[in-house]
Amino acid sequence: MEKVVIIGTGCAGLTAALYTARANLNPLVLTGTMPGGLLTTTSIVENFPGFPEGIDGYELMTRMQKQAERFGARVKFATVESVDFSKKPYVLNVDGENVETETLIIASGAGHRHLGLDSEVKLEKKGVTYCATCDGALPMFRNQPLVVVGGGDSACEEATYLTRFGSIVYLIHRRDSLRASKIMAERTLANPKIKPIWDSVVTEVLDVAQDKVTGVRVKNIKTCEEQVISCAGLFIAIGHVPNTQIFAGKIDMDENGYVIPKRGTETNVPGVFVAGDCSDHVYRQAITAAGMGCAAAIDAERYLSGISQ
Ligand SMILES: Cc1cc2nc3c(=O)[nH]c(=O)nc-3n(C[C@H](O)[C@H](O)[C@H](O)COP(=O)(O)OP(=O)(O)OC[C@H]3O[C@@H](n4cnc5c(N)ncnc54)[C@H](O)[C@@H]3O)c2cc1C
Repeated sequence: MEKVVIIGTGCAGLTAALYTARANLNPLVLTGTMPGGLLTTTSIVENFPGFPEGIDGYELMTRMQKQAERFGARVKFATVESVDFSKKPYVLNVDGENVETETLIIASGAGHRHLGLDSEVKLEKKGVTYCATCDGALPMFRNQPLVVVGGGDSACEEATYLTRFGSIVYLIHRRDSLRASKIMAERTLANPKIKPIWDSVVTEVLDVAQDKVTGVRVKNIKTCEEQVISCAGLFIAIGHVPNTQIFAGKIDMDENGYVIPKRGTETNVPGVFVAGDCSDHVYRQAITAAGMGCAAAIDAERYLSGISQ
């Protein structure tokens, strides 16, 4: 039987792996289908402390894994298909085989909602991005017109943040008013650098032929009129989907599927802890996920010491 199983090898999972490994708990760390997590999909990470020149996302995650393995973490390319928390030890179905464990750290992350356009996929990382905090400061966006899609709090925050870098920020929303909280919506609309485009959707990201974002084709869904807005960046902020479907009905979650921690990283199931973007719809950063991974590892270690006394 395992003492600690960690689901996920993003910043949260690998930091939890490092801490539990250094506590001699010999954790089993399951990668899922994306070893290294979301950060492996980005080239340069400029805001992870300790790397003044920035670091390639894939390299950062490879280093995190090596660091955890150095202390005995066992990283396995495998996916958890289902969980049974009805009795102890807990049972995980991992690629068809049962794994028993005393504790579990869920660090399964969250994916971005996409617009669903071919051109969006082709121009991802070439001007299409899903994180203003991560990418907004990149030189390619400085003093350029930028577009944000969305109407919630995140879209407002991203648009406001981007006004520091862009020459103008277009906020494209499919309704005629923002869904964001009143104060956030008012602040956003009062910003002279933000220009809302109401009742509209992006139908194409330009220009795949040039292999970079030069603009977006936008359609007004009430009048069906189309226009092209020139921009250097398209920031899509239409929500996230936490990778928590396998825990539905088995652990407390909010209506969007984020695991709700009870105290610290504890969940409502004793011995099951949570860390990173699968329980965080506010910060969603590599460093915050890593911090939560550290906390979950310490909580798991204390839980195990508690039950062994
Ligand atoms: C393009 C891009 C650029 C970014 N740039 C930055 C940046 O510059 N700075 C910054 O701070 N943040 C950045 N972020 C955000 C950052 O990547 C995330 O906040 C961080 O990766 C969250 O870490 P996590 O460990 O919670 O989840 P993730 O990194 O999403 O990792 C989740 C892990 O869980 C695994 N998993 C999921 N389901 C299962 C399962 N059933 N069984 C086993 N494993 C499973 C996945 O395979 C993966 O390994 C960026 C994100 C993107 C998409």
